[in-house]
Amino acid sequence: MPELPEVETVKNQLAEKIVGKKIENVDIRLPKMVRGVTPAGFKKKVTGAKITKVSRRAKFLIIELNNNYALVIHLKMTGQLIYIKKIKFQEELLKKHSHIIYYFDDGSIFLHNDMRQFGYVRLLEKDELGSFFTTFKIGPEPLERSFSLNKFKTLLATKPRLKIKPLLMDQTFLAGIGNLYAQEACWHAKILPNRFVKSLKEKEIECLYTSLRNILREAIKCKGSTVDTYVDANDEPGDYVKKIKVYSREHQTCLRCGEKIIKIILSGRGTCYCPNCQK
Ligand SMILES: [Zn+2]
Repeated sequence: MPELPEVETVKNQLAEKIVGKKIENVDIRLPKMVRGVTPAGFKKKVTGAKITKVSRRAKFLIIELNNNYALVIHLKMTGQLIYIKKIKFQEELLKKHSHIIYYFDDGSIFLHNDMRQFGYVRLLEKDELGSFFTTFKIGPEPLERSFSLNKFKTLLATKPRLKIKPLLMDQTFLAGIGNLYAQEACWHAKILPNRFVKSLKEKEIECLYTSLRNILREAIKCKGSTVDTYVDANDEPGDYVKKIKVYSREHQTCLRCGEKIIKIILSGRGTCYCPNCQK
């Protein structure tokens, strides 16, 4: 499932490629992927509009238009957003589970693919964006300058009885962290994923804070992690997968101490850790 680094990568690439382009036509092949308006209404509002801005909040991608509207896209499990300069064969689109296709006036196209079809695009008025995100009660962005170590400590202090790894994945606690990066952060910080927050020592919290931010920054540099269907806006896999230390490495040896990695189910999610060097 795309997390902060993957959505940030796609956002950066799309910002470069589609801002300023005019949407000449939109082909909605799977109407259920469009939320908040009928497919006909969506088509009417979007056709003829120019893209003015692409941004991200948590795992949401926001595409603003030069009218009153913005598209809010969530990729969920298997969503992909791919920009293609020139399409050679229409059949290529069908292979890619392309459910919404935007055609730009310069001949380039933008595909919204989704194999498992849990993702969506929602049409909102720009001045509804604030209240839309408020309803999700999304926590702070971990890479923002304002997200200081002190802020992290203060937030943790409000959740003493929760376990650290599921808490990191809670979008109301922190924005954009999912199952992969939460496990990686715990490994780097040498903390067991099922530790109660109140048991974490000052030093461990500091290490977790630094690890989490370093991992996210590095993953963005690598254009995300492709562990399933994720590809970036150029239809390329993300390279951070080569730097993964613990996620999905059950039965393999720990890259720090050589112990066998163990997998448990924690709050309903598969979670790998090293029973030796994570305490
Ligand atoms: Zn280890």
